[in-house]
Amino acid sequence: MPRRCIACGATTPPFNIQCCPSCGQEFRKPANDSAPPNNKTHVKNNHSGHSKQPRVCPYKNLCAEYLRSLEWDRSLFDRRFNHCYCSDCYLESWSDTVEAAGSVYVIPRGWCRFGLQVDKVRTEVDHIWRNWIVTYHGTTPEAAQSIVVHRQFLIPGDKRLDGEKIAICPGHIEGQNHIYTSPTIAYSAHPCYCRPQLFRSQTTNKIYKAHIVLQCRQQPGSFKVQPETIGAGHQRICSIIPNDEVEIYTTVRASVLPYGILIQLEETS
Ligand SMILES: [Zn+2]
Ligand SMILES: [Zn+2]
Repeated sequence: MPRRCIACGATTPPFNIQCCPSCGQEFRKPANDSAPPNNKTHVKNNHSGHSKQPRVCPYKNLCAEYLRSLEWDRSLFDRRFNHCYCSDCYLESWSDTVEAAGSVYVIPRGWCRFGLQVDKVRTEVDHIWRNWIVTYHGTTPEAAQSIVVHRQFLIPGDKRLDGEKIAICPGHIEGQNHIYTSPTIAYSAHPCYCRPQLFRSQTTNKIYKAHIVLQCRQQPGSFKVQPETIGAGHQRICSIIPNDEVEIYTTVRASVLPYGILIQLEETS
């Protein structure tokens, strides 16, 4: 029987991990340390020194430094959903996918998530941790901030609080004003969607290409799935999700709820 996270219901990899890769909920050991019977899937991994999230992950610290540089309001964040997926925090041997609400999504290896506040009413009324699938939305830092501050996705043509109209991205088909997401970060992180920014760290004094993707819960039944639209042709975008299933689109703003901002920093030479 697979292990399930009590907070979000996601199936978790059968390893000795400390928190749910889907929502970040920390697992607690039972007070009585004796393992429950039938706990076959609770396999201890053999990589000594890797069985816990490291106390201080340098990559996570670096990503946090970049996030601070964006100067988002602190009240937008919820640390409970923070989780680093670097190779030290999320091991190579652990599962590449997680199932949430009957749908598979790909673990964002190499990215670090900072949790966002999610509307309590929405989580309780819609049971988003249990019933909604996990998707990614790649974008620019400005657009990500706008989505999070507006507390909803905006569709091209919508007006922002500052009166500015949301422009239709170049290359996108006129009249198709959708919100685009994907079950795989390999697609959402494509430069068509996720435009990197250069960032110089005060800690390392190195320059990085910083990428941002929002991790979301998305309501089943309110979207359509289609093949990639970035002209990848026969070149496989993700080793898990086939090219003809990588793009999800919807016109229902309220059906996509971001719960984490994922950051990836790539050192420039
Ligand atoms: Zn969870
Ligand atoms: Zn890490």
